Amino acid sequence: MAFHTILGQEHALALLQKALVSTRLGHAYLFYGPSGVGKRLTALQFAKALSCHGTAAEACDRCTSCHKIDTGNHPDVVVVNPEGTSIRIEHIRALQRQLSYKPYESQRTVIIIDGCESLTPPAANALLKTLEEPPASALLLLLTSKKDVLPLTIISRCQQIPFRPLAPSYIQALLVQQGVDQATAAIAATLAEGRLDTWMQTDISQALARRQNAYALLQERGHTRNTPLFLLARQYAGSREQCEEVLHWLSLFCRDLVMLKVAATSQLYNSDLQAELADLTSSLAVESLLDLFASLQQLRHYLTMNVNPQLTFEQLVMQLQQLLGTPSLAEDAS
Ligand SMILES: [Zn+2]
Repeated sequence: MAFHTILGQEHALALLQKALVSTRLGHAYLFYGPSGVGKRLTALQFAKALSCHGTAAEACDRCTSCHKIDTGNHPDVVVVNPEGTSIRIEHIRALQRQLSYKPYESQRTVIIIDGCESLTPPAANALLKTLEEPPASALLLLLTSKKDVLPLTIISRCQQIPFRPLAPSYIQALLVQQGVDQATAAIAATLAEGRLDTWMQTDISQALARRQNAYALLQERGHTRNTPLFLLARQYAGSREQCEEVLHWLSLFCRDLVMLKVAATSQLYNSDLQAELADLTSSLAVESLLDLFASLQQLRHYLTMNVNPQLTFEQLVMQLQQLLGTPSLAEDAS
């Protein structure tokens, strides 16, 4: 498992490989970007490439050094994680003690701080001292999914390596590599929003059920008078999380329906339902779908502001009926 196996982060890898072959490797790098896109894996591969007994800017995966890092047993590679919700000053003091000694086996002692947004203020201050005057043999890799909460004094002392959300095709390929079947992997990649860790937490059968709920809402629009659709909505608004997920799927359906109208050859999020969606889209106007999409984003925003899911759903039902519901409105808009 070396650099070439990390998918979808070519930009970050190119920066790091350039650093490895240059004579001026920095003392501190900040890996930032969404969680679950490969920052920690890349940090470990970087440490491997640096300590590898081979000569290229890539770990050989065979020498004792590579093996020790893969198994978490290398004395010169330390990974720090938040304990509970924070990284406290004691952790940083322990790192500083280790950095005051020479590395045991390598040229550098590599310290990987995963989740450095969890540093308490005293811990951040202590770390800043090390960043200001790093020992010659130190290499600090700070990893964060929340760069905006880090003190600027820390950010400015590090060379920055941006990580991006993963393309759905990469996530799908990775899941298939791990033995997940193609159809499930395609749905999971749609759900993952560019992050592999979201898939780890996803209950796929539940996700499919919620997609079905969202699809039913779209299908039902206009076919019922207010009460049944409101009852349906009440059932779906059972929890904030469920409500958020149904809104998310409705947004994806909306996007697919628009695509079918304006760019029929583009890849759909719900490609397995292409025929049904093509059927549905024939009776809908693009403008109404775009208005609905905007409303869905607004409703998702309300949910993050702690608006009651039931209220959110009632608004959604009204929007569905208003924008897509009655045939006369659809005709006016088309
Ligand atoms: Zn090696």
